Amino acid sequence: MISRYAGIAPARDLILLRKLGEKLQGKTLLHINSTRAGGGVAEILHRMLPILKEVGIETRWEVLEGDERFFDITKKLHNTLQGDAVTIDEDMWQYHFEVNRKNAERLDLEADAVLIHDPQPVPLIAFKKGGTWIWRCHIDLSAPCRDVCSRIATYCQKYDASVFSVAKFAQAMGTEEFIIPPSIDPLAEKNRELSDGELQEVRDRFGLDKNRPILLQVSRFDRFKDPVGVIKAYRAVKKYNDCILVLAGSPATDDPEGAIVLQEVRDYAADDPDIRILLLPPFSDMDINALQRLATIILQKSVREGFGLTVSEAMWKGKAVIGGATGGIPLQILHGVTGFLVHSVDGAAFRIRQLLNDPEMAAKIGTDAKEYVRQNFLITRHTRDYLSAWYCLENSGKDVIEL
Ligand code: UDP
Repeated sequence: MISRYAGIAPARDLILLRKLGEKLQGKTLLHINSTRAGGGVAEILHRMLPILKEVGIETRWEVLEGDERFFDITKKLHNTLQGDAVTIDEDMWQYHFEVNRKNAERLDLEADAVLIHDPQPVPLIAFKKGGTWIWRCHIDLSAPCRDVCSRIATYCQKYDASVFSVAKFAQAMGTEEFIIPPSIDPLAEKNRELSDGELQEVRDRFGLDKNRPILLQVSRFDRFKDPVGVIKAYRAVKKYNDCILVLAGSPATDDPEGAIVLQEVRDYAADDPDIRILLLPPFSDMDINALQRLATIILQKSVREGFGLTVSEAMWKGKAVIGGATGGIPLQILHGVTGFLVHSVDGAAFRIRQLLNDPEMAAKIGTDAKEYVRQNFLITRHTRDYLSAWYCLENSGKDVIEL
């Protein structure tokens, strides 16, 4: 039961989670997204489903099926919503809808509450059969391409509410809006404590030198994650401080651009033996956990970021994280307190050197970072927030909501 989180997650979250579970007991909840592996949404759903079931909600998770053309269009949609100038023509919008229509025939859409994740399945609202429908947007909507955003808004307006990770992403979609940041699960294989033996095994398997500091970025090969910028920062540091750089990533089935970006990264890394590009198969959770624990400094140098689960994952391991000052990263990194925020390659290089040269400061930041994640970004708080939003919507119009 959720009592396994006692002593780890804040008690207030567990109490409220139980109470909300009692109120919503036996109701059905359906999550729909577009991949079961790769990226933050799948990561969260894998961990949240058992918790929802444990507190008494009958929960299902369905995944949209689409072909290469569909995922190519939805990746473009994702990019334009995060600010890239790419044209989405009428044919593409029609195909987006058509694939959703086919999925609606295949999927059982009946549930008391339906959480639709991101733009890929947003048109499913046209096939709503009842219940409370919530659009959960995980992407960075701080500076979207306007006409694409307006088109998405025409779907959103049919939802009962939308949920954004960060207040500044809320786009006045014409629905009730909730701000709910994502989270990590401290008990997941990706985040649990590891023994020295487990760490050593991973170090040996990847052939990572014990005597040199390790810089690490874990993320899909996506230009918004700026892997090339990370290599540039590493090269600037390397002139003064010896270190190795590990870029760990794996493909997501809904991200067709990954292979192209990976090739760009390989070309840019050239034949530097101290840059290690690790292609991890899906569900390499223990390896990611170990790499984050073995790293001296962790980067998430994104230039756009919905939330950046990798930041909280790294902070949970007591690491000082250097993150791009974008999207959900500043929610997690309080500059100079729980990590460093940077705006450029030079900024990243400067902070890497500062942390390498001052291990005491890095350790203090790491300790504060872990506590900050404990208070704010664990899955128990996140599940509590979803249930609160749902319960509020079920009781809308009431002045007092009893728990
Ligand atoms: N991840 C993974 N393997 C990889 C790269 C990333 O399991 O090779 C995980 C990572 O640990 C994190 C999630 O995928 O849990 C990425 O979530 P984030 O919010 O950082 O970025 P997104 O991919 O959703 O944009």
